[in-house]
Order: sequence, then C-alpha cells, then structure tokens
Amino acid sequence: MTFAPPIAPRVRLNQGIEIPILGLGVYRSAPGPTTQQAVTWALEAGYRHIDTAALYENESDVGAAIRASGLAREEVFVTTKLWHTEHGYERALRAADASLSRLGLPYVDLYLIHWPRAPSPSDRLDSWRALETLQREGKARAIGVSNYTVRHLEELRAHSEVVPAVDQVEFHPFVYDPALLGYAEGQGIRLEAWAPLTRGRRFSDPTVSAIASAHGRSPAQVLLRWGIEHGIIEIPKSIHRDRIVENARIFDFSLTAEEVARLDARRDGQRIGEWNPADIP
Ligand code: NAD
Repeated sequence: MTFAPPIAPRVRLNQGIEIPILGLGVYRSAPGPTTQQAVTWALEAGYRHIDTAALYENESDVGAAIRASGLAREEVFVTTKLWHTEHGYERALRAADASLSRLGLPYVDLYLIHWPRAPSPSDRLDSWRALETLQREGKARAIGVSNYTVRHLEELRAHSEVVPAVDQVEFHPFVYDPALLGYAEGQGIRLEAWAPLTRGRRFSDPTVSAIASAHGRSPAQVLLRWGIEHGIIEIPKSIHRDRIVENARIFDFSLTAEEVARLDARRDGQRIGEWNPADIP
C-alpha cells in the first residue's frame, strides 16, 4: 500500500486535540470487505479520519483496515458513537468498551453520544458522565455529542463543566442553521456535518450546479467546500474509490463569500434524516 500524505488540515478542538477537517463516513457501508476496502482507499488517498458508530456494525472492519495499513495509531483519527439504546452511566461504559474491543483499539479519538433520544433527560446526562469517565481513563481523547439542538446543549451546560468538543449534526445548505452554528462557535463547540452531500439528493439544485460549473468541480465538491468555508468538519461517505478521491479534492479551491451566501440562501429545511432532533424532548 502506498499512502498519499495527509490531505486535510487539522483543526484544534476545545479539549486540546486536533482533528482532520475531512474524514470518511461509513454509515451504510456494508460490514466486511466493503468497509475494509473503503477505509483502505481513503487512507491511501490521504484521509486520516474515519467516522463510524456502534450502529453501523462495521467498527471491526474499520479497526482491521487501520491495522492492516501499518499507519501508526496516532496518525489516524477514529470516531465512534454510543447508540441511543445504551444511555445511562453503566450501560454507556459497557457500550464503549464493546466498541473499543470491536475496533481492536485501546482508545478512540472521539466518542459521541449519537442521539439525545433517551428514556429521560437524566439518562443522557448519565451517559455524559460516562463519557467524562472514558476520557479520564484515556479511552476517548475527546468526547462530544451528535444531533443536539441548542436546547440539548444548554441542558448539558447546566449540568457539566466539560464542554462537548463537537456536535455532529445534519448540515448542508438546505438545513443551514446559523443559530446553531453561532451558538456552537460561542461555546467553543465544533460542528461536524453528517449527510454533507445530502446523500446526492440535491446535486442537481440549480445553485449548486451553477457554482460547480463555474469552478469546474463536482456538486459533491461544492457542497463539501461550502461546509469547509463555514469551518465545519466534513465526513462524506462513499465506498467507491473514485468518489473517495474526488471528495477529498476540496483543499485546492475555495468559494467566494458571495457563493457561500447564495448556497446559505438555499435553506428550505428539507432534512435527509428521518428524525428531527428538535422533536426530542
Ligand atoms: P452523505 O451526504 O455523505 O452521502 C453519502 C452518499 O452520497 C453515498 O452513499 C453516495 O450515494 C453519494 N456520494 C458520495 N460521494 C459522491 C460523489 N463524489 N459523487 C456522487 N455521489 C456521491 O451521507 P451520510 O453517509 O448519511 O453522511 C456521512 C457520514 O455521516 C456517514 O457515513 C456517517 O459516518 C455520519 N452520519 C452520522 C449520523 C448521526 O446521526 N450522527 C447520521 C448519518 C450519518
């Protein structure tokens, strides 16, 4: 295997570690050879950040591909997540240990609460205390949340001094949320975008297409670059080598402020995800 040098700049998180601003997502990447191959191609293309979750049932393949690469553990940033059926202090600790064992890693770089959806708010606060323990024990270098609205983040702030390093949320021009982005920036929380490509559903949007043509880029690259212009961490998913490479070629061009504003204005609230975090008490 030959590896391109790391392609994405790293950004510093509030908990003191750095994360490559681009990673490979592996949601719905089939367990087994498909995921192992996708992760291998990504590492070869210069990715050094992989985003998995217990839910995706491919943690062991992510771990196997990283080990097989021969890259040093500290060169690859690995994120996994606590599924919402595992909320609670003891359950979360057990779930994290199970994830580490499937990954075959002594620690992850980032451990996230996947959804605020829990039997009660106190359960997700108990989960957060478990994440604090995992971090103290060195099992997670950074801890954060996912699909948290400002309301969920405020609840956490009222009960913990540890500020989440990231909030991973659905983020693309069609659900552009300047209020959440502004709040997160004010608190030192980095937003991380899931479905940054709208799963391909909005590639033919006229504004996206026009900006893509103007730059001689693909719609995927324009959507990803839009997130980068907003300082957001991007984790596009693909299992195809050419697309994995294409999605990483976003650091050799930029969008003008006017183009970013035109994309911001495409916001129509049409979500890709079936659950709206705002509905979660
Ligand atoms: P995405 O927007 O990254 O879209 C992925 C899909 O877009 C692919 O399956 C493929 O069909 C298409 N695609 C990818 N690259 C392309 C290209 N260059 N040209 C044309 N089509 C292309 O959607 P996603 O997978 O849902 O989100 C990315 C990652 O975010 C996931 O893999 C996962 O790691 C994470 N995620 C997290 C949550 C959460 O609740 N925290 C939810 C969903 C996804």
